[in-house]
Amino acid sequence: MSRAKNSLSERDVISIWHPFTPQLNVMPPVAIVRGDGALLFDEEGNSYIDAIASWWVNLHGHAQPYLAEKISAQLKNLEHVLFSGYTHEPAVLLAERLLGHLPYLNKVFYSDDGSTAVEVALKMAFQYWHNSDRPRIKVVAFENGYHGDTFGSMSVGARNVFSQAFDKMLFEVIHIPVPLKGCEEKSFLAMDNALQKDDVAAFIFEPLIQGAGGMVMYEAKALDVLIGKCKSKNVIAIADEVMTGFGRTGKMFATDYCVNKADIVCLSKGLTGGFLPMGTTVCTEKIHTAFLTFDKTKTFFHGHSYTANPIACTAALASLDLLEKNECWNAIENISSSMKNACEKFSKNKSVNEARSFGTILALEIKTPEATEYLNPLADRVHEFFPKHGIILRPLGNILYILPPYCITNDQLEKVFTTIETFLSNQN
Ligand SMILES: *Cc1c(COP(=O)(O)O)cnc(C)c1O
Repeated sequence: MSRAKNSLSERDVISIWHPFTPQLNVMPPVAIVRGDGALLFDEEGNSYIDAIASWWVNLHGHAQPYLAEKISAQLKNLEHVLFSGYTHEPAVLLAERLLGHLPYLNKVFYSDDGSTAVEVALKMAFQYWHNSDRPRIKVVAFENGYHGDTFGSMSVGARNVFSQAFDKMLFEVIHIPVPLKGCEEKSFLAMDNALQKDDVAAFIFEPLIQGAGGMVMYEAKALDVLIGKCKSKNVIAIADEVMTGFGRTGKMFATDYCVNKADIVCLSKGLTGGFLPMGTTVCTEKIHTAFLTFDKTKTFFHGHSYTANPIACTAALASLDLLEKNECWNAIENISSSMKNACEKFSKNKSVNEARSFGTILALEIKTPEATEYLNPLADRVHEFFPKHGIILRPLGNILYILPPYCITNDQLEKVFTTIETFLSNQN
C-alpha cells in the first residue's frame, strides 16, 4: 500500500466524499490531529483559531478536559442501550436539566442532530393535528431559512441552490418574509394571509437570527407578534434553536428574549458542547396530550437506533455544568461586547456593506463585485487566505462571520479581527 505513506489529507481525497464540497478538482482538506481550547493543530504542526466553533457546535473548547473526563467515565459504565422500554440516568438527568432551562415545556424527545430534531418537531406537529381528528398539513416558514438537510427540514427551508435537485419532492410551505427592522408589517401581513383559513399546522422559525441564511437578524418584538398571531389561531410555534441555543445570543436561548413562547423547541449543535452528535425536540404538555390515548395507532412512531445515547447525554450534562457557571456567562458577555465594538469599527470599513452583531456572533456583509448568493467566489479567497494566517473561517455567500467557542481568549479574538482587516484591505 503506497497510499499509507502519504499524508492524511492526500489519502482523504482518494476515499472520502465531504459535505458541501464540489467534487471536481477538490483541494485536499486540512487534516486536524489535535485540539486544545479554541485552537486546532494540523498534521504539519500548524495551529488554527477555530473562529466558527467547528460549524457552530463548540462551546467550551476542543478536547475540553472536564468533558473528556466525564465522557470517558460514562464509556466505562454504559455505552448505549435501546430507548424503547429502557432508560438510563444520563437521559433522565439531561431531560430534567433541559426542562429546568425551558420551564414552559414538559417533554423531551431525543434524536441525533439538528435535522432530526426539526424532522421530529414537524412530525409531532402534523400528528398532533392528525390525532386530534382535525388534520392540518400546511406549514408557515420564513424565506431564507435553514432547518437542515433531510427532506422535511429541507422542505421548510429556503428554496435555493441547496434544495434545487429536490424541489419537486419537497412538501409545500408558505414562506413569509423575515420581519427585518423597518419591514415588519410586510411579514405580519403575510402571516395574517397565511392564517386566514384555519388550516395551518405549524409555524417554524430560527429565532432572532437566521444562521445559514447569512446571519440575518431581526427583533424579538417582531417575533412576539408573529407567535402571538399563531397562538390566536392555535397554530403550533416551532422554535429551531439548533444554532441559537446555549448562550450563543447572550441568553440561554434566543426565545428567552421573547414574551410569547414556542410550543416546540429544537436543540442540537451546542447541546453536547460540540463533542457528540445529538438532537432534542422539547414540547409542551398540550402537544403531548394529543398522544395520550388508548388508541395505539396514534402513537408517535419515530425513533433512531442511537436515540438518547448515554455518552452523548453525558457530554450534554457536562457541557451544561460548565455553561451554568458564572465564568462561562462572563466569557459570553466579554465576547459579546468585543463583537459589538468590532461591529462598530467594521461598519466604517469601505469593503463592508453592513456589519451586524448579536450576542457572541459578528457578521460582515462584504462588498463584492459578484452576485451575493451562496456560490459567491469570495469563499475561495477566504479559504485560501485565513488558514494561511492560522484562522478557520468559512463565509456564507458574501457574509463573513465569527462565531467562536466561549473559551476564545481576547488575544485570539483580536487576532481574528486584525486578520479580517488585513483581508479586507486586500479586497479591492
Ligand atoms: C445546523 C442547523 C440545523 C441542522 O442541524 P444538523 O445537525 O446539521 O443536521 C437545523 N437548524 C438550524 C437553525 C441549524 O443552524
